[in-house]
Amino acid sequence: MTIKSVGVVGAGQMGNGIAHVFALAGYDVTLNDISQDALDQAMAVITKNLDRQVKGEKISQAERDEALNRIGTTMTLTDLGQSDLIIEAATEKEAVKHKIFQELLPHLKPDTILTSNTSSISITRLASGTDRPERFMGFHFMNPVPVMQLVELIRGIATDEATYNTMLEVVDKLGKTSATAEDFPAFIVNRILIPMINEAVYTLYEGVGSVKSIDQSMKLGANWPMGPLELADFIGLDTCLAIMNVLHDGLADTKYRPCPLLVKYVEAGWLGRKTGRGFYDYSKDEPVPTR
Ligand code: NAD
Repeated sequence: MTIKSVGVVGAGQMGNGIAHVFALAGYDVTLNDISQDALDQAMAVITKNLDRQVKGEKISQAERDEALNRIGTTMTLTDLGQSDLIIEAATEKEAVKHKIFQELLPHLKPDTILTSNTSSISITRLASGTDRPERFMGFHFMNPVPVMQLVELIRGIATDEATYNTMLEVVDKLGKTSATAEDFPAFIVNRILIPMINEAVYTLYEGVGSVKSIDQSMKLGANWPMGPLELADFIGLDTCLAIMNVLHDGLADTKYRPCPLLVKYVEAGWLGRKTGRGFYDYSKDEPVPTR
């Protein structure tokens, strides 16, 4: 099957990045959200990011204009029904995602492929609530979408070969690289990355090192471009904790227990960059370590 039109559900930080890369690759994109504000903000962010790419001579002015023209927005979910491919990138709540697919189902073409950008919810479970588990996949982009090269393709237990092959072609047309993962908690990147971040928080919690010495050790000693605590603040400490909980619950292994200090920071509302405080304080020009 050749994909030409794409419906993106959710216009948050992931949805706007996904709409951006698909429009630039020549797909017709319809972006949906329950909030008009989110749609307006998404178009503003996409425009700003395309302008930055023109300035950096990564794309031409004509490519920028054509990409913007290919994106339509709507608050009516069923407007997406005639798309060849649906990418669900709404809030990370299973009930929200099930409801979106239920509402879409009666309006879809028989061969429309359904995908979800979920970071942690079982693809097999999401697929089983639809009429087409064989044409359902996990399609996990990294943040920020226009910059990050990797996309994880996650096969549910029922995903068929034709769907998988079609999605491989889509990733190729986007100019990105795919890694294929089977449907187990947190897939590949987060299964490895988030426990490493959790271990960095334990290292802080047990007093082995300070915020500065832990981040410096991993940057200069392991060649990480960002320290693990700096990275945790960037991802959001609530997101890190949610993924640790998914691993802990889904794999029932105590090695995935979330660090109590991570839990405490989340309870305090210290969620990292987005709230101005996490392992660093972001209220000044330069981030200041808090421990
Ligand atoms: P976000 O909060 O920035 O955006 C979510 C958007 O979904 C909001 O604009 C919200 O209004 C909208 N929404 C909620 N319910 C909806 C509905 N019923 N119909 C349409 N829109 C609805 O979240 P995000 O960071 O963009 O995450 C979206 C998805 O991508 C989640 O599943 C998340 O796990 C996944 N993801 C996030 C990251 C990341 O780093 N943020 C990385 C990879 C994957």
